[in-house]
Amino acid sequence: MEQKNFDITRSREVMRLTFDSRSENEEFARVVVAVFATRMNPTLEEIDDIKTAVSEAVTNAVIHGYQNGEGAILIEAAVEENVLSVTVSDDGVGISNIEKAMEPMFSTLPEERSGMGFSFMEAFMDRVEVISSPGGGTSVTMRKKIGR
Ligand code: ATP
Ligand code: MG
Repeated sequence: MEQKNFDITRSREVMRLTFDSRSENEEFARVVVAVFATRMNPTLEEIDDIKTAVSEAVTNAVIHGYQNGEGAILIEAAVEENVLSVTVSDDGVGISNIEKAMEPMFSTLPEERSGMGFSFMEAFMDRVEVISSPGGGTSVTMRKKIGR
């Protein structure tokens, strides 16, 4: 049988962006991911879902990961067929109990925050995966199928 030299990387498009941990960059980050995702022909609702999820993850990196101090946030987005994946990473304090942190209404800043960020990410995206360890930073990967 004839060997086909199929290059799988061609069906995948990626985007990488690093920016300073500042709340002013939350809007910037979510708009960049939304514009990147337009190649998938998403509906306005899908765009809004992506923006909300990215915004929650970036806000977490700024206020929890770096505790409003200095740091770098990395966003990696990829389109593979009809699936968008977005990873938001920080080198901040990390999370000791990921399962607990992802529970609805759990927050380590209960006076000021409602603890709904991860719940929103899970509601608006199809899958959310968190890799984190105390002192080792946090990386949140979200996937969403675009179009039905
Ligand atoms: P809200 O998102 O409603 O403003 P919240 O940020 O506390 O409140 P979640 O976004 O669900 O709620 O996050 C839950 C908890 O997980 C946070 O209170 C925080 O302790 C921890 N956490 C989330 N993201 C990070 C991160 N990037 N670095 C360190 N801790 C994090
Ligand atoms: Mg949050």
